[in-house]
Parts: sequence; C-alpha cells; structure tokens
Amino acid sequence: MRLSAYFLPTLKEAPAEATIASHRLMLRAGLIVQTASGIYSWLPLGLNVLSKITRIIEEEQEAIGANKILMTTIQPVELWRESGRDNSYGEEMLRFKDRRGHELLYSPTNEEQVTDIFRRFVKSYRQLPQMLFQVHWKFRDEMRPRFGIMRGREFLMKDGYSFDLDLESAKKTYKKIFDAYLTTFRRMGLVPIPVRADSGAIGGDMSHEFQILAETGESVLFYDALLLEPSLASAAERAAAYAVSQEKHNPYTCSVPPNRLRQSRGIEVGHVFYFGTKYTRAMNASIMGPEGTPIYPEMGSYGIGVTRLVGAIIEASHDEKGIVWPEAVAPFRVGLVSLHAEEAACAEASTDLYTKLSNAGIEVLYDDREERMGVKLSDMDLIGLPWQVLVGPKKLAAGVVELKNRKTGEVQELSQEGVLNFLGRP
Ligand code: ATP
Ligand code: MG
Repeated sequence: MRLSAYFLPTLKEAPAEATIASHRLMLRAGLIVQTASGIYSWLPLGLNVLSKITRIIEEEQEAIGANKILMTTIQPVELWRESGRDNSYGEEMLRFKDRRGHELLYSPTNEEQVTDIFRRFVKSYRQLPQMLFQVHWKFRDEMRPRFGIMRGREFLMKDGYSFDLDLESAKKTYKKIFDAYLTTFRRMGLVPIPVRADSGAIGGDMSHEFQILAETGESVLFYDALLLEPSLASAAERAAAYAVSQEKHNPYTCSVPPNRLRQSRGIEVGHVFYFGTKYTRAMNASIMGPEGTPIYPEMGSYGIGVTRLVGAIIEASHDEKGIVWPEAVAPFRVGLVSLHAEEAACAEASTDLYTKLSNAGIEVLYDDREERMGVKLSDMDLIGLPWQVLVGPKKLAAGVVELKNRKTGEVQELSQEGVLNFLGRP
C-alpha cells in the first residue's frame, strides 16, 4: 500500500478528552474516529488490526470445533420475556419500536437468540455437544463510556455459546474454550491472566475473566507471581495459580503464598461463563435424553472484547513515540520510507524495493509522500509497524538501506537483497 493513496489521518496532538495512552494513540495514529459518545468508526489502519485480531480468534475457535454463525444485531423483545431478562437487564439495553409498534432491542448479548436457534433444530442428545460463535456488534448503553473503545457503547464482541448433555461434558467444553482463550491472547503478544469469578455454590455457576495487566485497567486483581514467570512453575502449579480479583475475594484468604502474591490493575478482555440450564429451561429448549426422556442441555457463554483488545494491546505495547505492534496483529509488517521522495534516485530505489517486498508477499506500507523527513519518521514511529526500512540517498550511494526494529530501536545496514532475505524469512 502506498501511503500517498492511503486514508491515514494522523494527528500531532491528541484531543484533550483522551486521558489514557491507548485512546490518545488510537486517535493520533488514525485508527478510529468518534461518532458519538462511546461510538467509534474504524479507519483503514484500525480496521486492519481489528481484522487480524478477528482472524486469530476465529482460527482458535475453529480449531476446537466451534461453528461460526452470524446472528442479528436486532432482536424481538419477546425472546427476552421468555428468559425473564426483559426486566432484569436494565438501562444498558437499547430498546425501540418498529413502524408496527413491535418492541425490538439492539443485542447487548445473544443467549436468548442462540437458545432459540438451538431449540428449533436440535432435538436429540446425539447432536450434542454444540459450540456456536460469532463476531458481531453489541450495544450497551454504558453509564460511563470512557477510554475510547475500551468502554464503548457500540463494540465488537466475539460471543460463543455451548450446549452439553451434562455437567461433566459441560466442564470439558468449558476447559477447551478456556484453553483456546489462553492461546488466542498469547498469539496476540499478550500475557492473559485468568481470574476466578465464581458466582455460586459447587455445581452452580462457574466463571473466569481474562485480564491483561495494565495500570490504566478498570479491575484490581491479586495474582500469583508464577503466572508471569512460567519458567518458575510446572504446568500443574501454573494451572492452580489462577488469580483472584479484589472485588470478589479477600486476598489474604486465597491460597497463593504471601511472598508470591502480587497486586495490579487489569483490563478484562475475555469472560467465560457456565450457567447450566438457566436458558434452556426458561425457554423450553428440551431435547431427547439418553434415557428416552426429555432433558435440558447445559449451557455456557464465552465472550471476547474484540474492539477492547485493540486498546489493551496498545496499553501493553507502546512507548513515548507511539504504538509498538506485536507482529501477529500489526496492520502492516513493514513500513518503507523513502526519506527523500523528491529525489529521483531515492524514489526509484524505494519503489523498486516496495515492488520486490510486495511480490514476496510481505505486507508493506510505503511512505512515498513528498513530505519532510522528520514528519515521515515520526509518523512511522507513531503507527508502530514492527519493521521500518529507511531509504536515503547517502546510504544508497554506499549500497545499503537501514532496517530498524521499532521495538528495540536497533538499526542494521543491509543491501536491498539483504532486506528482502531478512524480511522474507517467516
Ligand atoms: P465489564 O465488566 O467490563 O462491563 P462485562 O462483564 O459486562 O464486562 P461481558 O458481558 O462478559 O462483559 O462481555 C464479554 C467481553 O466484552 C468483556 O470481557 C469485555 O472484554 C467486552 N466488553 C464488555 N463491555 C464492553 C464495552 N462497554 N466496551 C468494550 N468492550 C466491552
Ligand atoms: Mg458490563
């Protein structure tokens, strides 16, 4: 992609309302633009990241056998009357009427709708287990939308739902999805901390949040230091070391030895929930059980904040110059800068390298603008692509270009061949 033809409205200064780094950087780097309070549109660079994140989530869901569907953003209120959540969900739900006076709502979540789909088609225990998921927009009329897309009102969520025959099988499904979430977040360069959020007696509900450590996070958590130092712990120790959140547990009664107990703030990027037969009973979604009598399938639901993840990744990975994207979610892998695009030799060599990199299947954003060098370099640092290739007349005369690692700042001088070889490696 040539920057001269790319819609990338970068800003020198962040608007005053942006108080945390990710919000400031997302506005400055031209990832998002606000439409209304808590409602943001995604611009090309931001959308690129969102697509990469979505792709990773989908791959890991498909790897455990979940089926991707796409439900509607709009639901009839009747479904929520059946579950009884019509009254309990409250002010976060956006309701409206169509021209015939039918009461509708914009999905804040989709348990009712997926249970309705399930009951129409699944009739026997032989069709279990089922795992369905989607990546789709939600609306919650949050009391205090803030921090940009971090707590928005309209936001993109991966929401998954499982149906199992019995508790034992439901627990297996829960574990499978739990593990897939760990893999998903790790692939994005994050260190996910699962936090127990048990909300009931044994055999009742079971729930974990996935938190990313960040000073600007809204949750306070206590965790076992072993979680962050995998080399210190066996797999079994690590599995036992799930964190406890302050709100729900007294840290001094938890099982973590005091010398390993750490406190931090976190951003909740995912939430897994087992709630048994709550919806299948309320919505009469019984199926034929193995004994020949009807049974109510056991359900769980599993959310990931897709748009929130973009903010969380930036909170976890930036410096004073801008964003530092982990390779797996970077909008482009390489930023190629023609330092003196107004000079024919520099422009030609840059364009030649751009063509070769593109032909090698490498995602390159090519800054071919006739702009001041300082502006180009600071824009490149701001948008945070993992690798920068800097092409300038002096180095060219010596037969080299510069390859800079955005994260470490390390610069190597390489021939154009050398750059291609280096970046061509997977
Ligand atoms: P929170 O406590 O942050 O309000 P929640 O418990 O209401 O989250 P869930 O209903 O479990 O959230 O939704 C699944 C995921 O969706 C959350 O883990 C979070 O990452 C994301 N999410 C929830 N609310 C928002 C929001 N207002 N803006 C952006 N992402 C959100
Ligand atoms: Mg909420």
